[in-house]
Parts: sequence; C-alpha cells; structure tokens
Amino acid sequence: MKAPHTCSSEKMNPQTLLLILLLLPAARAFQFTRMAQYVDSHQEEYVEALRDWVAIESDSSNVLKRPDLHHMMEVVAQKLRLMGGTVELVDIGEQELPNGQILALPKVVTAQFGNDTSKHTVCVYGHVDVQPAKLEDGWNTDPYNLTEINGHLYGRGASDNKAPVLAWIHAVGAYQALHMDLPVNVKFVIEGMEETGSNGLDAMILAQRNTFFSDVDYIIISDCGWLSRRPALTYGTRGNCYFFAEVEGPKQDLHSGVYGGSVIEPMTDLIGILDSLISPSGKIQIPGIREAVAPLTDEEWKMYQDIEFDLENYKNKTGVSQLMYDNKVDLLAHMWRYPTVSIHGIEGAFSDPGTKTVIPAKVTGKFSIRQVPNMDPAVVKTQVTDYLHSVFGKRKSPNKLKVSMVIGAKPWLANTQHPLYEAGKAAVNKVFNVDPDLIREGGTIPIARTFQDVTGKSIIMIPIGGFDDGLHSQNEKMSRYNYIEGTKLFIAYLNEVSQIKKTSV
Ligand SMILES: [Zn+2]
Repeated sequence: MKAPHTCSSEKMNPQTLLLILLLLPAARAFQFTRMAQYVDSHQEEYVEALRDWVAIESDSSNVLKRPDLHHMMEVVAQKLRLMGGTVELVDIGEQELPNGQILALPKVVTAQFGNDTSKHTVCVYGHVDVQPAKLEDGWNTDPYNLTEINGHLYGRGASDNKAPVLAWIHAVGAYQALHMDLPVNVKFVIEGMEETGSNGLDAMILAQRNTFFSDVDYIIISDCGWLSRRPALTYGTRGNCYFFAEVEGPKQDLHSGVYGGSVIEPMTDLIGILDSLISPSGKIQIPGIREAVAPLTDEEWKMYQDIEFDLENYKNKTGVSQLMYDNKVDLLAHMWRYPTVSIHGIEGAFSDPGTKTVIPAKVTGKFSIRQVPNMDPAVVKTQVTDYLHSVFGKRKSPNKLKVSMVIGAKPWLANTQHPLYEAGKAAVNKVFNVDPDLIREGGTIPIARTFQDVTGKSIIMIPIGGFDDGLHSQNEKMSRYNYIEGTKLFIAYLNEVSQIKKTSV
C-alpha cells in the first residue's frame, strides 16, 4: 500500500495525518514482502539444508542406526548454535531393548531465541528421526538422497518432519538476516524418538515444566499435513488404545488332521470375539463406547461442510470401490471425531505362503480403538476387557483369554476460536490468499496432549506438508512449493502471534 500523497507546499490537514497513522501498520506488509523475497532468493540454500538432513539415516526404530541419530541431534544443535541460539542437548536417559541391551536415547535439543519479557514466547516442537526406508521397499529413488522430480523433493523424512523443522529455523533465520527484530521469543524442542513413541520426552517435559517451559505462552506443532491443496490448521487429533487379546489352549501346536474335531481351537475363539467388536457397517458394539462420544454440534457440521475434500479422489487414493459413508460430512466425522476399531493382526497364526494344517496353540489378536472426546482410555480399557470376557464366556470354551491394553493415548482438541487460531487464519491469508481449512487428524500425536496436560499451555498445529506426501510410506516427499511457502507462513505467523493481546493465554 502507498502512503497518501501530500503536497509539500501545503500544511498537512488532520484528516491526512489520521489516514497516515491508520496506514502505518501497512509497513508490516511491506516488511513481509521483503521477507518473502528473501525466502524466495534463498530457496536453493534451504533445499540443500534439507538434502543434508535427509542424508542422515536417523531411523529411530533401528538400533544399528543409533549413531546416525545421535549425529542428527548434534547437527540440529550446531545449526541453532551458529544462529546464536541458547542451545542445550538434554540427556533423557536410556532405553532397554527386549533382549536386555541398554541403549542411550538421542538427546533432545532445546533452543531459545530472544528473551524479551514484553513479548510472547512460542515453543516450536518437531522431530528429526524418521521411519525406516530401503530402496528395495519400492522407492523410485534412494530414500536418503533427496531427489527433486517435478517440484517434489523425495526423501525419507522430507515431510515428516525434517522440512517443517527446517522451515521454522529458516523463518527465524530470515528475521535475523534482514536485521528485523523477532516479533516473539522463539524456543525449540526437537526430539529424535517420535517415530517409536517419544521415549523419554514426557519425563523431560515434566522435569522442565517450571524452567524451560515456564515462560512459554504457546506451543506450535507442524507434524501433520493438509487435507487437500488448500492450506489447513489442525485443531484435533484422535488418541489410541491398543489391545492384545490372547487366547491360549493346547500346550503345543497341533495337526488338524490328527486333532481337528477333538479340541476347541483358540483361533476360532479369537476370530469369534474379534468379530464381536464392530459391525460390518462400522458400528462399535462394545457397550458404553459410543455413548461416551461428544455429540456432533451444528457448528461442526457446518465446518465439515465447508472443508475442501473430494470423495472420489479419496476413493481413488485408497483404491477402494466403496467407502463406509457416501457423503463428505459423515466421512470426515468418522475419520476425525468418532472412534473406530481396527484389527491389525494375529500373532501366532500361520501367515506364510502355502498351506500348513496347523492348529495354533496360542494366538494373540491385536486391535486398537481410536479415541475421541470425551472417551477416557482407563474407562475404555475396562469396557473392552469386560465385553470381550462376556462374549468369550458365552462360547463356553475351555481356552484361556487374557486381554491387555498396551497403549492408552488420549485425544487432543483445541478451541478454534482461540487467538492462536485467529493468528493462524490471518497468516494463511497473508501468504496464500485463502482461508485455511480447519481440520482434525485421525491419527495420534500424543505429545500434543502431554504438552497440554503438563504445561497447561495452548497448542496449535500448523501443517505445511501436502496431502499426498506419503508419510511413513514409499516415495515420501515434500513439495518445494510447500517447503518455501511454508517458511513464509511461519514468518507471517510469528508476526501475527506477536499481535495477540498479552492477557489471552
Ligand atoms: Zn512426524
């Protein structure tokens, strides 16, 4: 925007002066344009930084890669140190492997830029460990050699979560490079065990609740993706309760030709009880679960209605001929805000190619129930255990059933009216010129709930990953567009957050 023209020979009238004062905030817009140009002109450097990070095989699930993971954390710390941040590598202890081996956990990197008490302080959470990847798994390119094809940057961890972490670092770097004051203090918490359950992080957050986190106003997570080509803000994630149902019968595996017909088979019992969990039309049959779920409000229905989402596209992407629901609102609601049961596998069952006439002696069914407000994992545990035992009891089987819950992660939900989200909408508008979709994530990001419960701070999730990035899958990628525009989004967001009134938390 241009300043109003005033002729030097005449005195400025009060209206003109008022107009100038009203237009002063436009200076920010100008600054943003400068910053956006800076980002554009440094994009090759940003891509190279991502290439360097992707090249480090920081696979947290493979113990043989642990030295690479330690190295990854050092690289992150060093990058932040070189930018003048106050950086710490926090020791979070060790992990014991099932074989008894003790292994050091990768340190958590914390960093701080700015400590002006008159400003808000945001804390950006991210992770730099990755899922396993091998060329033989079906990658078209070497997963650890970032390869650009048609504007897409292919590499393991590119989208989950290395590029978003780098984009936040570049955002801070751009303010520094242009000698612009950071509008808020920025802290970082970067971990290296996210893909295997964030071992040690909960304890670290708890331990630093009154130190590192004490002056943090808001927590920002960018570890998810958009739903379509339209930018999005994420305001909820589902939790997860993961169960093992073990049915044990004969003392060893038996031959069906010899013993078939004479014994009550554990696998038949297991299939029977697993089948009682959910109906073919997706209705959870465990008493009490559906009753606990927060009802769908009219506002929610309206929000889902406005979201950009193509059912046909989704069908093609998943490769199914029919979805559980044939309208957008029902489908999105069941992906995000209703619980579901998924049966994952049966340990002890015969699963090799070919035929084997075995009666397995002991089988363990594995299933999980995605958690939504207002479900409580502790209650769900009792509901599931009681229900399975009652169904099993009706079978009058001599076999033994043991039900255990091995994961109990709570859901997370934010208030989309919170100023943090208003700031997010404004930043998306500034960079992309559209309103963001307000979406939820069907998966679980347990750390969001931990941050909320332990620190009591408000959280926002601002994704920059694309809807088709293939996280955890072959040919994971991050688009150059999302990476670069995402960096601008973070720059704009820091500025928007600085304008939140100090009283709102
Ligand atoms: Zn991730």
